[in-house]
Amino acid sequence: ERLTDSSHSQRIISSCNSIEDNINVVVRVRPLNPKEIKARDISVVHFPGHGQILVDHVPNGGNAQKSKLFSYNVVFEPAATQEDVLQFSGIKRLIEMAVEGFRCTAFCYGQTGSGKTHTLTGPPKLFNKKTPSYSDSHGLVFRSFLYLFKLLEQKSDIHFILKASFLEIYNEKVIDLLNSGTARKPLAVRWSKKARGFFVENLFTVDCEEIDDLSAVLEEGMRNRSVGSHNMNEYSSRSHTILTVHITSEQPAEKGVFISRSGKINFVDLAGSEMTKKTQSEGKTLEEANNINKSLMVLGYCIASLSDNKRRNNHIPYRDSQLTKLLADSLAGNGVTLMIACISPAMSNLTETINTLRYAARAKRIRTKPIVVMDPREALIITLKREVNVLQSENEHL
Ligand code: ADP
Ligand code: MG
Repeated sequence: ERLTDSSHSQRIISSCNSIEDNINVVVRVRPLNPKEIKARDISVVHFPGHGQILVDHVPNGGNAQKSKLFSYNVVFEPAATQEDVLQFSGIKRLIEMAVEGFRCTAFCYGQTGSGKTHTLTGPPKLFNKKTPSYSDSHGLVFRSFLYLFKLLEQKSDIHFILKASFLEIYNEKVIDLLNSGTARKPLAVRWSKKARGFFVENLFTVDCEEIDDLSAVLEEGMRNRSVGSHNMNEYSSRSHTILTVHITSEQPAEKGVFISRSGKINFVDLAGSEMTKKTQSEGKTLEEANNINKSLMVLGYCIASLSDNKRRNNHIPYRDSQLTKLLADSLAGNGVTLMIACISPAMSNLTETINTLRYAARAKRIRTKPIVVMDPREALIITLKREVNVLQSENEHL
């Protein structure tokens, strides 16, 4: 890391060359559910080796079928626990990097019912109660909070400020999940020249001093998410949620100068991947059908452009959807991303499973170059403030 003063940029940018795989792609396969078992559905996925998935009965023209092998960074078999996902998905590295000032994103992709929400948050009934207690079924987000606080405790010489927000994108409208008082009034997504990134105007951000504050954000958002729906399943299959933890640190450097860094981590629960096609097939009559998965489609275009080395300098259409605007700084090459592709093992879901596995394979080809975000002006202000404090207390003692 380098400390430089640039007249073009208000930030000090230092690149981290040691990281090559900045998109980590893992797959989680859920167990067959009781309905599938009752219907005598069978599992078509096998696990031949580390990071590999073999899928049977893949159509191969006419009546022919073949088996197809896919490889990823990590594959979680149906028996894997929520804690396994924390330990082996690479999320811990993302949290460590967010603490160091990188912008990180973890997202779950997959068809409705494949286990996205289960993986990120755990079963919704955890959040029905006013004060949920910690259990084995808690998902990756809560486990990440615990890990984050453990990390911060170890770095007691650095001053950290945590803030969190939780939003939903439904029908290309951004809804604040923490501010139910605004009656689900859509918020505007704007470009910030100073931060060189998109942000949601008037989004409620909560100061989080302890783990309970972060848990409260998760719980409150989960409760408000279901408020907008008559049919929770239908609704959640069409909406995207983003829970963001902003981590700002002030670290003493030479000569009493403090360096301020601002990292963040987004946890993204995407709309069901089957929605992309439904959007196209339902036609343009319904506003809903028209918009619903614009975000998901554009995310697909962005991933396709980013992963295609031949089209390296291609235009990446981040600005075309709300979701990609908000994830641009993580995906655009300066961040670190974890994609958790969720699939069903059932024969009856074969087509969607293959689509998800192909999408995940494409995402694996993306290469990025993460940077730390620091603000030297802010660092200077912090230093000056401390000097003023010192002078004031000296005055008081005179
Ligand atoms: P999605 O959010 O992708 O639509 P859900 O997370 O709601 O899917 O999962 C659908 C159902 O399957 C839920 O009842 C959930 O509890 C169950 N489920 C998903 N993944 C697992 C898993 N790994 N182990 C046990 N049950 C799971
Ligand atoms: Mg869900």
